Order: sequence, then structure tokens, then C-alpha cells
Amino acid sequence: MQYKDLDITHVVSAQANTTPLGGCTLSDGVIEAMSEAAKWHVDIDKLWDAAGARFAEVTGTEDACPTTGASAGVAISVAAIIAGTDVSRIQSLPGAVDGPNEVLLQKGHSISYSGAPIGQMIAIGGGRVKEVGAVNETLPAHIEGAITEHTAALMFVTSHTHASQRRSVPLEEVIAIGRRHNIPVIVDAANEEDLKHWSALGADLVCYSGPKSLGAPTSGFICGSRQLIAACRAQYSGIARPMKVGKESLMGLLQAVDEYVAVTPLARGAQQRERMEALVPRLDALTGLTARVSKDESGREIYRVLLTVNPQEAGRDATTLAKEARAGTPAVYLRDFKMHLGQLEVDPRALSAAGEEDVVRRLTELLMTTDARS
Ligand SMILES: *Cc1c(COP(=O)(O)O)cnc(C)c1O
Repeated sequence: MQYKDLDITHVVSAQANTTPLGGCTLSDGVIEAMSEAAKWHVDIDKLWDAAGARFAEVTGTEDACPTTGASAGVAISVAAIIAGTDVSRIQSLPGAVDGPNEVLLQKGHSISYSGAPIGQMIAIGGGRVKEVGAVNETLPAHIEGAITEHTAALMFVTSHTHASQRRSVPLEEVIAIGRRHNIPVIVDAANEEDLKHWSALGADLVCYSGPKSLGAPTSGFICGSRQLIAACRAQYSGIARPMKVGKESLMGLLQAVDEYVAVTPLARGAQQRERMEALVPRLDALTGLTARVSKDESGREIYRVLLTVNPQEAGRDATTLAKEARAGTPAVYLRDFKMHLGQLEVDPRALSAAGEEDVVRRLTELLMTTDARS
């Protein structure tokens, strides 16, 4: 069975790896690891222990628990903190169990990813979300003042594109508050590139997504202390059962992580920068477009092509251009976080060399039409 048998054509993602565009494409090594894994039965407990040890090694933590993704990681982390390893508590979730069940979330971190809100993931784990502060400003006192005997955990979202970080309480301070009150801190690090940073700061549980930055199939993991990770694994007898990760995905994730850590972020950034620099003159030459390389705002080693659309010269604004790019075959999806400012971006992370050509071809087709019209 292939996409074409369903009348589906592949699309080109200049938006990095996102769920609506099918996660990420896999390296030959990852595909091979998955196809080999699919041929055999294994003792899943042993495989999970071995996988946990490998993720622990690359994250600098004590242990790790595989998941289907970061949102499952959030639900499982919350459940682990509320129910621990007690099977009757585990199997009472997501209904109320005795003891603390509130999860404090800065209002600016109350995000939704492709439509699914983080508060709902917390609720699946049996947590009651208590939002603190305001959308555009949360102070340490908002968090500290909301802590009661019902507080189970503090949730922190690292994302700069989804969450509001500007006037929020940084993770270091959230962790310090957690320590003072003996409350664990869960970090949603879904699309982060750094596998060690958040745990090294002292976060108790950190949730990663496999397809976002790591080049893995639909999968993910939570890393943290031995005790909390044992509680995470135990949730697979409860709320995590409908989120179980298959052996093939897990072996794919392990292979992807191995390949990922073999290249330093600096080297990966430099390669991508070189590719984006080569694209700039080709896109800058198009009528109505100005192109330049720009570095990720949050300081990560990601270099994108920033396209500024001049609506008079281009004959359409950025929003229309993005829509028209998507209407081609293959459809080209440009990064649109700055679309309201009249800018579009080409993100290298999900883009193959052939994809780059598709981007140039599609934008050339569209903006040549402008020339002909004027
Ligand atoms: C994508 C994303 C998620 C969801 O990750 P999945 O692996 O798809 O479940 C959660 N949080 C943030 C910040 C994300 O960007």
C-alpha cells in the first residue's frame, strides 16, 4: 500500500516536523532498525529496561520511560506523581484519588499543540489544572501563593513558539519553588534539541517527542529519577495503556537518538545554515521577496530563510502567498509564525534537498505569474 493508492500525494514541509504534516521522515538507519524489530517477538519488560538505560545515558538522568509522544508523556508524568506505583490508585485514574492532584501551570504556558490543549493531557493523568498568573505575566509569587496541600506538581513548557516566556517564571525559579515545597516539576520539552539541559537544571520529569527534533517515528520518552520513572512505567497498567508504544517504534526511536547525538548541535546548525545561505540568493531574486538567513530567536542553532513579502511588488500578501504555495503539487508548507508581520520562513529541519528545489520552484512559479501580469 502506498500513498498514491489512496490518492494522497506527499507534501513538502518547510515548517520543520509537525504533527499535521505527518511528523518526520526517517533515515535509512531508522527504517532498517524498525523493519528488523518488526520481525521478532521480544520480552517487552526487558526491552523497556534496556531502552530506559540508553535514554538515561544520553540525557544524563537515572532512568527513562518510552511513550508515544510528549503529550502522552505529560499525561503519564502527572499520573505517576498522583498514583505512584500503587495499582489500585493507578487503576482509579483519571478519577479522583486521595491526596494532592492539582497541577500548577503558568497561564502563558496553557498551550495547545495542533489543537490539543495541554490541560486536557494533565486531566487524562488525573490532574486538576490550576492556572496561575496572567497570559502575559506570571510572577514567582503567583506560583508560590497558589501552592496548597492539594498541589501535586508544577508544569513547565519550554517552547518559545507556543508558550509565552517573556514575562513568565523561568524554569530555574520554578524548580527552586518546587524544591522549597517538596513538589516535583514536570517539563514539556517536546521539540527541544538539548537532551540534557532541562534535567540538568533539576527538573524531575522531562518529556520529549521523538518526531519533532530527534528524527524518530511517532514516539517519545520521559526521563528523570529512578523512582518517578518506575511510577511512569507502572501507568501502563492504567491510563497509559491506550498510549502504548510498539517495539518497532521504540527501536526506531533508539536508533534515531543514536544518530541524533552523533552530530553536535553546532555541526548540525552549521550544515543547515550553509544550505539556507545557498537558498537566499535564489529566493531574494524573486519579484516582491526579500530573503535573508535568520537565527532562531530562542538562541538554538537553527538557521532559517526569512522571507519578507512586499505585497505591492509580489501582487499578494504573505498570507495569500503561503496559501498559494500550499495549493501546488507537491504542496509546499512555509513556516508561518511571522505571517502576521508579512513574513514567511523556510525551516531547514524537515527539508530534503529535493524539498528545497520544490520550495524554489513553487515560489518562482507564483512570482513569475506576477511579473507576467504586471
Ligand atoms: C508537539 C508538541 C507536543 C506534543 O508532542 P507529541 O509528541 O505530538 O505528543 C507537546 N508540547 C509541545 C510544546 C509541542 O510542540
